[in-house]
Order: sequence, then structure tokens, then C-alpha cells
Amino acid sequence: MEDTPAPIRNPEILYTKIFINNEFVDSVSGRNFPTINPATGKSICDVAEGDKEDIDKAVAAAKEAFKLGSPWRRMDASQRGRLLYKLGELFERDAQMIASLITLEMGKPYLQAYEETLWSADILRYYAGFADKIGGKTIPMDGDYFCFTRHEPVGVCGQIIPWNYPPSMFVWKVGPALACGCTVVMKPAEQTPLSALYMAVLCLEVGFPAGVINVVPGYGPTAGAALTVHPDVDKIAFTGSTEVGKLILQAAGVTNIKRTSLELGGKSPNVIMDDADLDDAVTFAHNGVMDNAGQCCVAGSRTFVHEKIYDQFVAKSRELAEKRQAATGDPFDPKTLHGPQVDEEQYNKILDLIESGKKDGANVECGGASVGGEGFFIKPTVFSGVKDHMRIAKEEIFGPVQQLFKFKTLDEAIERANATEYGLGAAIFTNNINNAMMFMQGVRAGSVWVNCYDVESPQTPFGGFKMSGIGRELGEQGLSHYQEVKTVTMRIPQKNS
Ligand code: NAP
Ligand code: MG
Repeated sequence: MEDTPAPIRNPEILYTKIFINNEFVDSVSGRNFPTINPATGKSICDVAEGDKEDIDKAVAAAKEAFKLGSPWRRMDASQRGRLLYKLGELFERDAQMIASLITLEMGKPYLQAYEETLWSADILRYYAGFADKIGGKTIPMDGDYFCFTRHEPVGVCGQIIPWNYPPSMFVWKVGPALACGCTVVMKPAEQTPLSALYMAVLCLEVGFPAGVINVVPGYGPTAGAALTVHPDVDKIAFTGSTEVGKLILQAAGVTNIKRTSLELGGKSPNVIMDDADLDDAVTFAHNGVMDNAGQCCVAGSRTFVHEKIYDQFVAKSRELAEKRQAATGDPFDPKTLHGPQVDEEQYNKILDLIESGKKDGANVECGGASVGGEGFFIKPTVFSGVKDHMRIAKEEIFGPVQQLFKFKTLDEAIERANATEYGLGAAIFTNNINNAMMFMQGVRAGSVWVNCYDVESPQTPFGGFKMSGIGRELGEQGLSHYQEVKTVTMRIPQKNS
């Protein structure tokens, strides 16, 4: 964007402590953990490491803030909306700083981080408008009764987020929770605590009462797990791997039946018919799997291409990947399109999957290796000749690796598209309306795109079928997880006493 301010290459790191009750505090244990710049592999700074005791403190603060009669519970819904709107304005005001912190700690190219921060501001403003529009119904029940429903906030919400979209994940979670009047304990990903703590300080500036939002950086198996088993947490919202999603569901079940919403992994199919606009389809398919260095839950990581156009499609996909490789490098440079993977663990996992693709007999059209040098950079990689049984066809790679499959008929493509445990996104490229309708109806996925890929906005529900999750975020539907419906029935006297 033309009016994007230049990045701050060495942002001053002011907030590295745990945010509880509107104060920044050290961890109870006194321990810290390092946060690493993935473009260099070097430590940026240390951050207070939250654990069970810190989660206990944060949950106690959130519980106190949620008490009947507290400033938050007594606040007019319209005022809650104004605070949320103001938070959106502050995200926009400080987008340069938020984006710079994201680029530093997760390696997302700055312009993309900046745009994402503005989008996150829009989401906050979208949910702000709902705060005073959440109401129940009067119900014409049988008998001499007056019945109505109240939609009440669900209570203390534990929110555990990943590192791939730091500001969006923050607002997808806090936006609807606060609009509904809940209180929040957030556990950001271990890789991206700095941007999360900066967003916490904006919450402080907005003036939310103490305890309404608490942010506890730390590790998943310690701080995250403590949140999932805490008896005073009423609801858990999680985005991340399916593996951890299963643990969270179990923890909710063996403790207090926490309401649980999960946004998990995917292996999303993208079907290209022979009547599609080829250049459009190649571009969307490429961006759909390569953007954010492939670190996207809804990445189109299985591209099924009709046999008649397969060879052309492969050649054009290789060209785009090579172009992207030429724009790989320093994520602070505005010309950079392709940054590093978030950390060494992800980097090694992706390289291992690339090796498995080679061993299983897929063809490396380009890339297929690390960039080399410092940082966790991987070359944009295109595999052709991919078969459904290969690991790269089945496992979520979460890296810049495109798999190109060949198919003959739409029926076959739909069947293969559905032959996965996941169901997050799906797309078809075609100029035939019947193909589009058949696909839209047949594919089992939470979002289906026709002649586009990964297009979302604050108004559109997002989430998965099957093992891609439970529930929907964004849109009006995103509010439903944060409400309990209370049915109130009053007897109507039939004569004056
Ligand atoms: P992850 O382990 O699922 O992490 C997501 C969040 O859950 C992080 O905040 C994490 O803390 C926390 N967590 C981890 N174990 C936990 C536990 N036992 N109890 C409670 N919280 C826990 O994901 P990852 O390690 O970052 O990445 C692994 C794979 O997950 C990726 O390769 C990718 O396939 C998938 N993934 C999917 C998404 C998505 O958008 N759906 C996002 C990220 C990753 P830590 O930060 O300490 O791990
Ligand atoms: Mg993990």
C-alpha cells in the first residue's frame, strides 16, 4: 500500500512481562524464556514465562472482573461497544509498531503484517457494533406463562492462539468475547509474545476494567495446559494443531465441561477444471499455498489439476514459485514477498516432509531445499506427480510446498478432495456453473471458494468440518460461543389477588 509507513527495524521492546489485572508483572517462578528472530536465528529478548501459578492469578482476576456488580458487568452494552471500537482505532493508530514487532518475532514480511493489523482493526470495529445488539426473544409458550430468553456472557474464557497470524488471532478471540461481556485469559504462542503484549497495552489504554483482559505468555504444555484444566475457566477457544486440539477437548471433558471451540489444521483441496481461466487459477493456487510462507491453516495444499491442462499448469506454477524465490529475504524489506519459517522446529518438520516427497517419488519442479545461510528460510517448492498415498499428500506441511495432483473427472476430484480427515477450506476454478454447484454441494469443508481462494472478511463465518475443528469464528456466528441462553418463565396470574 502506498501510504504504509516504513517499518521500525529495531522497535524498542517495552513490554515483556505478564499482563494481569491491568498490570505488567514478573512470573511467579521468576523464570523467563527467550524469543527468537527467525530471520537470523538470534534471540531478541527474554519474556516472563507464565506457568500454572500465573494462570491461576490471571483466572482469579478474570473471575473477579466477571462478578455480578463488577464495573464490567454493570457497564452498559453500548459502552462495551465503544471500548471495543476504540481498541480497533488504536490497532490502526499503532499498526506500524504492531507490524514491526510481528516481522521481528515471526518473520512475516512487513507489508503483509501491516495489512493484517489493519484488517484486525476492522474485525474489532465489526464486533464493537454487536455489543448492544445481542438480545433474546419473547416466546409464545403453552400455558399461562410469560417466557423470554436472555443471552448472557458465558464467563471466564481461556483463549489459546498460534503464531501464524498474531493480530488476527488475537481479535478473532477477544472481539466476540468482549462484545458478549465475557472476561479473557489469553495464552499467546511462545514464538509471538511481544506483539501480544503490545496489544495488551493497547487494551490498558482503552480503559477496560482491571481483569477483563489478561495475557500470559508461556509454553503450551505448562501455561496453556493449566488454562484448559482450570475449574474456573468456563470456555476455551483454541486455534492450532489438531493434535493439541484433541488434548484440549479431553481436558475440557475431564474437568468442568468447558465450552470448547477449536480451529485446527487442514489439507485443503483446490480443484482446477480444464475450462478455468488458467492464469487466474495458477495465481490463486500459488498464493493460496505460498502466502505467509505456507503457514496458514487453510493453505490450499492439495491442488488437483485436470489432466488436459496439467503440464501447462505445472510449468506456470514453477514460474511463479521461482519468481517468489527471487523475492525471498529480509522480511523488513518492502520488496520481500517470502520470509522465513517461524522457528527451527517448523523448519525441520517442513524439510523432513520435502525429503519424504522426494523419496516417495514425487517430482521436485523447483525449490525442494533450505535457502541456506542464517535464519529459517525454505525455498518455495513445487511437487508434481503427487499421489494420494504420499505423506506430502496427507500431512499438514505448514510450509511453502505445493502439491500438484492430476485428475480426469469432477466426481473423481470431489471424492479425492474429501478423502482426508480435515475439512477446513476448498476451492474450484471453473467457468461452468454446474461444476461449481456440484463441487460446492459435494465437498465437506467449512469454506468453499469459487474462482478465488482464501477470501475472508469480518462478516464471513470461518471454521472446519471433521477434524478441522468445532464451531465457527468471525461473522455473527462467532458470537455464539461466548453466550449462554437463559430461559426465564414467569407465571401470569389469571385474576387480581
Ligand atoms: P500448537 O502446538 O497447536 O500451538 C498452538 C497453541 O497451543 C500455542 O499457543 C501452543 O503453545 C499451545 N499449546 C501447545 N500445547 C498445548 C497444550 N498441551 N495445552 C494447551 N495449549 C497448548 O501448534 P505449533 O506447535 O505452533 O505448530 C505445530 C503444527 O500445528 C504446525 O506444523 C501446523 O501444522 C499446525 N498449526 C496450525 C495452526 C492453525 O492456524 N490452525 C496454527 C499453528 C500451527 P506453544 O506456543 O508453547 O506451542
Ligand atoms: Mg506446539
